Amino acid sequence: MATNRTFTMIKPDAVEANNIGPILAMMTEAGFKVVALKYTKLTQEQAGLFYEIHKERPFYGELVEFMSRGPIVAAILEKDNAVEDFRKLIGATNPAQAEDGTIRKRFAKSIGENAVHGSDSDENAAIEGDFFFSKLERF
Ligand code: ATP
Ligand code: MG
Repeated sequence: MATNRTFTMIKPDAVEANNIGPILAMMTEAGFKVVALKYTKLTQEQAGLFYEIHKERPFYGELVEFMSRGPIVAAILEKDNAVEDFRKLIGATNPAQAEDGTIRKRFAKSIGENAVHGSDSDENAAIEGDFFFSKLERF
């Protein structure tokens, strides 16, 4: 059964472009409730660990550089069918393929610098939420 929480990051490109506010607004207007929220910056080591599943991919080095170059916003979001519905809201990895009305269509610059992260499974949502937040930081 699908659980009701997912994990997201607003990535450095979107923070640099001053788009934290409108992106959070799109999330909350789509019915996601903020359970945990943090403004922070990943070290290269932390970014490498977070995206370790992509270690063998040709873009891994570029991805680690990008995700550690500036601050990000991390959040746990709650909604029925959270993981699947949130992936629909953010749109395709490549913004050129993202549908109208999605966050990436509106804010992403390229397949690498694509504004937001969204967990791809309930299991990863739990792992990624635990990566950033203690129990005391969730409400
Ligand atoms: P995310 O996990 O960040 O939500 P995603 O699930 O849509 O993105 P993944 O396949 O998990 O896509 O890739 C993780 C991230 O790696 C992408 O969001 C993007 O920042 C980067 N990336 C993926 N494919 C490429 C590529 N071909 N070239 C450069 N960067 C890429
Ligand atoms: Mg992914």
